Amino acid sequence: MRGLIARLVMAAALVAPLPSFASPAFEAMLSQAEAVRSSDPARFDQLIGQLNASLGAASPRQRELLEYLKAYQLIYTGRHDLGIAAAERLFQESADAGIRFRAGALLIHPYGSRRDFAEALRYMNETKELEGEIQDPAVLEHLWAAAGGLLNQVGRFEDGLRYAELLRTSSSSPRTRCFGGALALESWFNLEQLESRDEEIEAVTRECLDAGEPLFASFARTYRARHMATAGDRNEAAVYLNRYLADIESTRFPRVIADAHSVLAEINIAAGDYAAAERHARRIIALGAPVANSPPLVAAHRILYESALQRGDNAAALAHHINYADADKAYLNEVKARAMAYQEITSESRQKNQTIELLNRQNEVLALEQKVATQEARNTQLLVVLLALLLGTIALWAWRTKKAQIVFRRLAETDALTGVSNRMHFSHRAEEALAYCRKDGEEAGLVMFDLDEFKSINDRFGHATGDWVLVEVAKVCADVCRKNDRFGRLGGEEFAFLLVGCDLPSSVALAQSCRKRIAAIDTSPTGHVFNVTASFGVAGTRASGYDFLMLLSRADDALYQAKNAGRDRVRTHGLEADTTTVAAT
Ligand code: GH3
Ligand code: MG
Ligand code: MG
Repeated sequence: MRGLIARLVMAAALVAPLPSFASPAFEAMLSQAEAVRSSDPARFDQLIGQLNASLGAASPRQRELLEYLKAYQLIYTGRHDLGIAAAERLFQESADAGIRFRAGALLIHPYGSRRDFAEALRYMNETKELEGEIQDPAVLEHLWAAAGGLLNQVGRFEDGLRYAELLRTSSSSPRTRCFGGALALESWFNLEQLESRDEEIEAVTRECLDAGEPLFASFARTYRARHMATAGDRNEAAVYLNRYLADIESTRFPRVIADAHSVLAEINIAAGDYAAAERHARRIIALGAPVANSPPLVAAHRILYESALQRGDNAAALAHHINYADADKAYLNEVKARAMAYQEITSESRQKNQTIELLNRQNEVLALEQKVATQEARNTQLLVVLLALLLGTIALWAWRTKKAQIVFRRLAETDALTGVSNRMHFSHRAEEALAYCRKDGEEAGLVMFDLDEFKSINDRFGHATGDWVLVEVAKVCADVCRKNDRFGRLGGEEFAFLLVGCDLPSSVALAQSCRKRIAAIDTSPTGHVFNVTASFGVAGTRASGYDFLMLLSRADDALYQAKNAGRDRVRTHGLEADTTTVAAT
């Protein structure tokens, strides 16, 4: 009775409502066709014809659903090749998971009945992968029913039982629950779990009768009788089964009929009624090809052999024994082939899962690598920004330091009151200029002057007025200066020039013009009117050489002479050749 249920599916496919679609009229017809496809084949054919005629109103998905129903029609009217081709096209090409799922589930049965169990299992596995995308339980039942039948066919009764239980417990359709019950009976029987399940068998029988499925009811009754016989009460079993034998025969389903006769044949032979046993056995053999490779056929040949043996007809016994051995071998080969198909597909799908797992891992690694690369790029960007900030800060700091340095240097070099070079800076620059002149063989002059009676200005008009005078003097003298000349305040009311490229007369001339500018200072802005004069001393490099201190000392001498000579005048150092020519004017 192995795999029998899967064959019965042919006559009792499950009914599932369709989801709603764009064209209501077409949709209604589709739903109707779906509903009557197994219970009313004539109406189903008629509806398919009508749907074909009004294809113009159908949406693409509705066309695909019609294709699916036509594939179903082809398969369940025995045109397997065409039906399989149409369903496979939908399974491979449809963008709709619901349609692919239905097509995949539809393909399991015809491949199973072709004994291509490997292909049937492959479709079962591939359809199972779509399970997560299907919400409608009625659509899911397509797979559960086909998978349950197939798994029982390949001898995986525990797996088959799981689907049977799903169908029994969760379907809202009585027909589907009946089918699940029949499938469960098949699993229990093969798992030797029929013990004390009389009530359940009875419930399945009732459910199938109520659902208008006499075929499955017959199937359940046959199991019940077989179980009764093995439990010991052969007479009761025979009475029970004989009561329903006409109903069973009227289903016209060879495998159920063969099963029933096989149970009765076993009971008769056990009771010693060889003639009756032989009758039942011959009925089984007469069923022909549909019962090939099945346990009832094996039993039938064995019973004929045993009967012939009992009669003492050795020639007939031998012939039946050969048939019996052949049928047994064919059946065992079939069982082996199915089990091997299962093993093959299981290891194939395990391998596929491992490959998928490996690819997933590789993808994970790639994704992580990408993440790391992005992070690295972000880090680099951050580093660049930080470096830029650091460089900017350093540049700002350097610029500020430089600016401060410039300010400090200027402060250190400049006389705070007059803004001209202070003594130290003037000395520095004068020494530089002298070294330059010495190198180029140029002359230079040093002019030094000191304001006359300055103490008296402070005393008479105040220190502030004295300061004003110092600022004015520095201003007029800086005006007199040429670009390359050096000018500075030596301290107090003493100032000096270093005149680059000037011989003594030129130096004296500059001193004179400076003296005149000082004498011309208008002091009225101070609120007082008074005279400002200065006395000048000049020394030149021709007579005094390029040493700054020597020149300064000699100019100071000349200045002293100017003071002594009555102030407000220019004097050159005594050793200068042209001293007389530069007397005060
Ligand atoms: P002489 O003609 O001999 O040079 O007479 P003098 O008064 O100019 O000379 P003395 O050296 O006696 O006086 C210089 C004065 O200059 C004394 C000091 O108070 C004043 N002095 C020095 N530095 C400053 C300054 O920065 N501001 C003011 N207002 N006065 C100053
Ligand atoms: Mg002085
Ligand atoms: Mg003075």
